[in-house]
Amino acid sequence: MTHIHDNIRQIEALIADACGRANRSPQTVTLLAVSKQQSVADVLTALDCGIRHFGENRLEEAVEKIAAVNSQAPYRPTWHMIGTIQSRKAKLTLPLFDVIQTVDRLKLAEKLSELASASQRIVPIMLEVNISGEASKQGFNAYQWQTRPELKAVLWQELEAILALPNLEIRGLMTMAPHYEDAERTRPVFAALAELREVLRQRFNSPLPDLSMGMSNDFPIAIEEGATIVRIGRAIFANTHP
Ligand SMILES: *Cc1c(COP(=O)(O)O)cnc(C)c1O
Repeated sequence: MTHIHDNIRQIEALIADACGRANRSPQTVTLLAVSKQQSVADVLTALDCGIRHFGENRLEEAVEKIAAVNSQAPYRPTWHMIGTIQSRKAKLTLPLFDVIQTVDRLKLAEKLSELASASQRIVPIMLEVNISGEASKQGFNAYQWQTRPELKAVLWQELEAILALPNLEIRGLMTMAPHYEDAERTRPVFAALAELREVLRQRFNSPLPDLSMGMSNDFPIAIEEGATIVRIGRAIFANTHP
């Protein structure tokens, strides 16, 4: 079998180890393969190894790849949008994806709700949150949210508005952590997202079952902090990974 097969088995073992440390069942963690920049053949190989969730971040690339994979695959995978969505492209994005993980502003949520209503579909979405405060990161600003009441007020107001929109199912929160050589340094970011989810669950009486966090370099730590979806690209598809 290919390196993709070996990589996936290795990642699954690491997921199981992390779940063991966190006292969780490995079934509570979904391995999402980030297939951006990967070929249709490699996506089909990953599918053959049991992967059922894929993530794409660019509409132009996803259009062709998703059609090709869906037509050739024995099982239709679940496609997650994990890239920034321009409002004017929302209409093209929505029909391609099963889950939109990168809802990073109220306006986009409103647009998606409108489009979902028009197509009589309930669309699962996740709210992208900027926990680290990095200017390069998208998402609702939640930098140091625990100690900033005025920021919390804005965030709560926006979330309340989104939860009231029709035809959207708010699955939970998604974040991109900063890239650190020492992955342990990402732990506070993951912990802050998990804590935010907990507070929002109670405040809005909404289940928010998912936490999408952790990538190739830091997914075991994200799982220890509660990730239910890990988004992994390089560690699955690269021939040698760090
Ligand atoms: C590329 C990407 C990933 C995967 O990153 P790797 O380091 O290759 O695992 C995860 N999430 C998002 C949003 C991405 O753009």
